[in-house]
Amino acid sequence: MKNFQQQDFTDEKLKEECGVVGIYKNDAMLSKYLYYGLYTLQHRGEESAGIAVSDGARTEYHKGMGLVPEVFNDDILAKMKGNVGIGHVRYSTSGESYVENAQPLVVRYRGGSIALAHNGNLVNGEKIRRSLEDDGVVFQTSIDTEVIVNLLARYSSDGTVESVKRTLDLVKGAYALVIMKENELIGVRDPLGLRPLSLGQFADGGYVLASETCAFDVMDAEFVREVEPGEMIRITKEGLESIQYKKLEKRASCIFEYIYFARPDSVLDGVSVYEARLNAGKILAKEHPVKADMVAPVPDSSIPAALGYAQASGIPYGDALMKNKYIGRTFIQPEQSLREIAVKLKLIPFRENIKGKSIVIIDDSIVRGTTSRRIVHSLKKAGAREVHVRISSPPVVGSCYFGIDTPHRRSLIAATQNVEEIRKTIGADSLGFISIDGLTESIGTHRDRFCLACFDQKYPMDVKEQQKANGDGPEKTFNRLQP
Ligand code: AMP
Repeated sequence: MKNFQQQDFTDEKLKEECGVVGIYKNDAMLSKYLYYGLYTLQHRGEESAGIAVSDGARTEYHKGMGLVPEVFNDDILAKMKGNVGIGHVRYSTSGESYVENAQPLVVRYRGGSIALAHNGNLVNGEKIRRSLEDDGVVFQTSIDTEVIVNLLARYSSDGTVESVKRTLDLVKGAYALVIMKENELIGVRDPLGLRPLSLGQFADGGYVLASETCAFDVMDAEFVREVEPGEMIRITKEGLESIQYKKLEKRASCIFEYIYFARPDSVLDGVSVYEARLNAGKILAKEHPVKADMVAPVPDSSIPAALGYAQASGIPYGDALMKNKYIGRTFIQPEQSLREIAVKLKLIPFRENIKGKSIVIIDDSIVRGTTSRRIVHSLKKAGAREVHVRISSPPVVGSCYFGIDTPHRRSLIAATQNVEEIRKTIGADSLGFISIDGLTESIGTHRDRFCLACFDQKYPMDVKEQQKANGDGPEKTFNRLQP
């Protein structure tokens, strides 16, 4: 057997945006709680969902493609009984969308079984996989998570805490993990705190771990605290144990969670996502003022920022676009032409509300530019006199390798065009992006605490291999004219 400790593993792996939940609670309703938790985290992944539970002797699991209520029903949940369980919602982006890649992954090994749900992206998953394969290990999925679960099983004879530590010594990247063994629940957050994970507690006993605090509210659990970067939390019948498996050197929480990804009623690292977005709108109004008749959001993620812009500018807030809530995310359409139609179907202009008006439209981000271009076009077609676009995040100029789906640099409009060029491309009368300082001020935390790589390309770990595989090499100066 190879000594995995000796090797340096670095590579590109497919991107995942996901939500995880884990519960330790002696309750006949356990699987229902997990189900409600996943329902609340649905915005973090609409592609597949899964739950695994254990009663100390048997591990049951069920997973499938689709939304949480499509994958589960009362009969399925009623059969899943136990006192510990984990759940996962997934949204992959590389087209490898099949049920084998759905999580939790459950493996049986000679000492029992391990189930694992993972949010994030490893930067060296593929390298470790290849080494394990050289060693004769057979993989059934194409996701990083299987690499982690394999290492956990491999080191299991060392005991839970040691096996997790040894595994985490090898893997590099972004991860929030919930791990279930027959009688224990483990939660882990990566050493930089890139992906979020919080701890909650039930008044009548038991604990819950979840990607976002909004999952606690639905099951009447109380928020206790964030899982710290580099911390492992282990919950057994003896109670809760915290192990700092890696010393905190620097923190690099993902700023995109505040901008777009998290639900506005969640609290991340002590900051309300809603407040942060509201503040971003206020700061945006100061940084990029404009005269207009109405401020309107691109629903839903931009509503708080639009409110903030309206409050700070004194321009009345109104609705310019209605969201067809039956359409999923436009972002996941693989082809540009499909993405354009999806935006058209998803966001419908309110003709009567916008006719003859000058409108400030607020969105949380411009990635490829598809959404903004479509929106400006449809608002103008519906009779808007002027459309001013204001964006509550800075221009996205760098790909993310840590779990947020921002595409290759060449597809990022701000990597190839400056602000004036983007304005022309999307057809807006004016365009303004919040500054990086404005954004971090909106969250109220020093910028050193965040990963801002999508805006400044300063990655918190070495991603040269990823950039090479992605065709994003730092030598490529896509951003000819800085905004
Ligand atoms: P684009 O149309 O490519 O410029 O993408 C920008 C739109 O997609 C905005 O309306 C955002 O709300 C949304 N968006 C931004 N980031 C993401 C993401 N990681 N996943 C899904 N949608 C996103």
